[in-house]
Amino acid sequence: MGAVTVSLGDLPLRDELRGMKPYGAPQAPLPVALNVNENTHRVPDDVAEDILDGIAVALREVNRYPDREFTALREAFADYLGHGLTSDNIWAANGSNEVLQHVFQAFGGPGRVGFSYAPTYSMYSLLARGTGTGWVDGERAADFTLTAESAVEQVRAVSPDIVLLCSPNNPTGTPLGLDVVEAVYDATDAIVIVDEAYAEFAPHDAPSALTLLEGRPRLAVSRTMSKAFAFAGARVGYLAADPAFIDALRLVRLPYHLSALTQAAALAALQHSEEMLRMVDDIVLQRDRISATLEALGYQPSESWSNFVLFGGVDDPASTWQQLYDRGVLIRDIGLPGSLRVSAGTEEETTAFLDALASIGETA
Ligand SMILES: *Cc1c(COP(=O)(O)O)cnc(C)c1O
Repeated sequence: MGAVTVSLGDLPLRDELRGMKPYGAPQAPLPVALNVNENTHRVPDDVAEDILDGIAVALREVNRYPDREFTALREAFADYLGHGLTSDNIWAANGSNEVLQHVFQAFGGPGRVGFSYAPTYSMYSLLARGTGTGWVDGERAADFTLTAESAVEQVRAVSPDIVLLCSPNNPTGTPLGLDVVEAVYDATDAIVIVDEAYAEFAPHDAPSALTLLEGRPRLAVSRTMSKAFAFAGARVGYLAADPAFIDALRLVRLPYHLSALTQAAALAALQHSEEMLRMVDDIVLQRDRISATLEALGYQPSESWSNFVLFGGVDDPASTWQQLYDRGVLIRDIGLPGSLRVSAGTEEETTAFLDALASIGETA
């Protein structure tokens, strides 16, 4: 190809994609990156060695297509989740974003509608758009909570085909009661997805929506290894549901969508789940420290059951974001008025963020 001769607008792009920008948070090589809710702790050395051994074995057979059913990995996820689940209840893909895309491909599409309660994870509406599914935003209370009563009233009014319940919610961190999940399920004929990407950061005695799966064939719970498992770069997400639900997702997946290397890496990591999750308690401590310090600085942090904190009371979010950036700290301006979101990092990273934020007040 020689010189570029056309621009994107000249190509016969699908109408609904015209004018769109690719989604993604800014990636900048700053010393303290707390913008995309990663687990900033590295994979422990002994686990990394086992993962490398697993990948080395898989690599010897990489001339062959991988196990299309990723059976060993589904068994490992079933074991990890417990609740009497078996491999027949499990699906996985390259990140839970791909899992959710499979859900939209199987149960959404032209003439169908997806629905959630804003503000929530922005990928939901983008997945709807990418699959030709309609989208409607519901709402939450001013403190971002959602009651069963409000959730049911809204879902009845919209009558969607897919409902997404993010629990705890991103970008607000807000917990969601299981009573809301049950009530929404009972109020619709829709597919109901509970996105538990941050479940491991919730209080240990908080029940998961996994406890509701039995007898609810339209309900699914999605999880990811990206956050608590410190595995964001490996791209592994998964979902638990009725076996018939899993069969629906098989209809839309690409054959061999999970590479042999991905399967080997995830399997080895899951065999060390306890060690992989050891940092979760420390991250929760840092999260609570962020909330307490923000409050002392005069900001309004939202209650968080995740590994990040949304805080209000920011006069000029774009300016505060930039001043933190200039001090080597990357956080997220998610476009909510007067608010910014920060992920809990290691103790040092968290201190760097809190010190930088405090210094902005002094130098402004
Ligand atoms: C991070 C995140 C995910 C998924 O991430 P993957 O890396 O694609 O597994 C899903 N849902 C929510 C709410 C998230 O914040």
